[in-house]
Amino acid sequence: MFVSDLRHFLDLPADTPAPARRMAEHLTLIVRAATAGDAGLPWVSALTCSRRPGHRPCPGNLAVSRSDIPLSIAWQCTSCGDEGVISGWERSPFDLRPHGSGHRPVEAIRAVIPSEVAATLRSLMLLDAATERLVFRAHLCDDGIVLSGDHDDLEELIGSVAAEANHEEDRRRQKQFDAAFDALNDVLKQL
Ligand SMILES: [Zn+2]
Repeated sequence: MFVSDLRHFLDLPADTPAPARRMAEHLTLIVRAATAGDAGLPWVSALTCSRRPGHRPCPGNLAVSRSDIPLSIAWQCTSCGDEGVISGWERSPFDLRPHGSGHRPVEAIRAVIPSEVAATLRSLMLLDAATERLVFRAHLCDDGIVLSGDHDDLEELIGSVAAEANHEEDRRRQKQFDAAFDALNDVLKQL
C-alpha cells in the first residue's frame, strides 16, 4: 500500500529526478479522476496502470474512490493490485470538485471513445474546470472508455482540442489531437 501526501509532490524543483516527477504525475492524475467523479463507491477510471510487472506493461486500469468525510482518496490497479491512498490533495490545483452548490452536469451524452483518445484528452492544457471534469470522469466499460457529460461541455472540449492542435508543432502530437478531434466529432454527429 503506497501512502502519499500530494503536497510533497507539488512545485517540484527543476532538478527533481525523473522517478519523483513520474510519481507526481501519477498522483495528480489519480486526484483529478477521483475528484471529478462522485464520492462513495470505487469506480474504474480511464487511467492506465504504469507498472511493468515481469517487464511487460500492466494491462490494468486504476479504480479510484473518494470520501469527503473524512477526506481521502484510494486507488487500486484492476490487474496487478498496486494500490495506495493519497492525502493533502484538497484545494490543490488538481482538486476538481465543483465549488458552491454542487452543480451536477446533466449527463445527456454517453460516448465510447478509444483509450488512446482518452489519454490525449488528459494531456490537454486548455481545459476549464467543467471540461476537465468531463475528461477525468471518464470510466472504463467493456467497449472502451465512456465519456459522460452534457452537450455544452463536449463542444467546449472539441474547441480545446482544435485550439491545441493548431498550436502544436510536434507532428506526432498533432496526429493524436486530430484523432481525438475526429472521435469527438463522430460522437456529436451521432446525437
Ligand atoms: Zn497494474
